[in-house]
Order: sequence, then structure tokens, then C-alpha cells
Amino acid sequence: KSGFVSIIGRPNVGKSTLLNAITGEKIAIMSDKPQTTRNRIQAIYTTKESQIIFVDTPGMTKAKNKLGDFMIRTALDTLKEVDAIIFVVDDSLSLGPADKFILQHLEGIKTPVILAINKVDKIMPDQYAIITKLYSDYDFIKEIISISALQGANIGPLVEKVIGFL
Ligand code: GDP
Ligand code: MG
Repeated sequence: KSGFVSIIGRPNVGKSTLLNAITGEKIAIMSDKPQTTRNRIQAIYTTKESQIIFVDTPGMTKAKNKLGDFMIRTALDTLKEVDAIIFVVDDSLSLGPADKFILQHLEGIKTPVILAINKVDKIMPDQYAIITKLYSDYDFIKEIISISALQGANIGPLVEKVIGFL
């Protein structure tokens, strides 16, 4: 099986860390500062059965200038063409403007979305219930999985879910 997968989510949720965890290589630039990932960075995941191209997207928030607007448009256009989308969120207990912005743009999209709740290494069970409830009304979310990109937890099962959509 082969295909293209976009990794989206607001800045600092752990997209670059996830990309690195998936490929086992230091391809994307990681930073505590938001929006370090200026370009879409592609990583290729190859096994005997599958070849998947993962595309890291720049931090999707409302554009502050023309360049930002261009980057967001490019990222949004990509979402229609990929085979699956991994929407990464973190331990935040409420939806911020950037999350709402992304959810709004995913509405009506035909590409299957997998919600990856990242940073579970610091999420308590009662908090996890609150987080999942934030996303319970969105039909385009086909799967929900908890992961720790930093600790490499549940990355294999996430990739398996992705392969299920290819
Ligand atoms: P991006 O902006 O979405 O690409 O986020 P990064 O991958 O650059 O990560 C932002 C910050 O979150 C960094 O300090 C990471 O070390 C941290 N981070 C990423 N994944 C995890 C995780 O699973 N657990 C914890 N505790 N921190 C994480
Ligand atoms: Mg990044």
C-alpha cells in the first residue's frame, strides 16, 4: 500500500516530533518556538508492504501577512489531495482560535481524518475524557488515538490506522 498523509495541527502540538518518531530520523526541525517548520517537510516511511509519504505542514493559524496567507493556502490545498490526515492535538483542555480555525477548514473535507491526541505522557485519564469530548461532534474525524511522540508511544498503531485508509 502507498499514499500521502498530511500531519496538521496548531503550532507546538508535536507535529515535527511525531514525524521524527515515525521515520526514526531527524528530518524535521524541532523547536519550543511555534512556526519553526517553514516548509512542508516530507518523510518517506517504507516497509515491505507499504510506502507512505508524510507531509509536515506549517503551523496553521490565521495568517498575519501575505507569506503566512500563502503558506496556509498551500497547506489547505494539500489536504484535499492526500489519502489521510493526521490531526495532532495536545493536552490543552479547550479549543483555542487556531484549533477552531483548523476544524472549520476540515469541515466538509472528504479525506479521512485521524485525531492523534499527543503528549499522553502528561495527560491524566479525566483530562483525556475532556479532550476527546472537544472533538466528539466532528463527523470527519474517523479515528481517535492517544500517542506520545516524544516517548514513541502508540506510533506503530497510529501508522497501522493510517495504512487502513490507503
Ligand atoms: P510542532 O510545532 O507541532 O511541530 O511541535 P514540535 O514537534 O516542535 O514540539 C513542540 C514541543 O512539544 C517540543 O518541546 C516537544 O519536545 C514537545 N512534545 C512533542 N511531543 C511530545 C510528547 O509526546 N510529550 C511531551 N511531554 N512533549 C512533547
Ligand atoms: Mg514543527
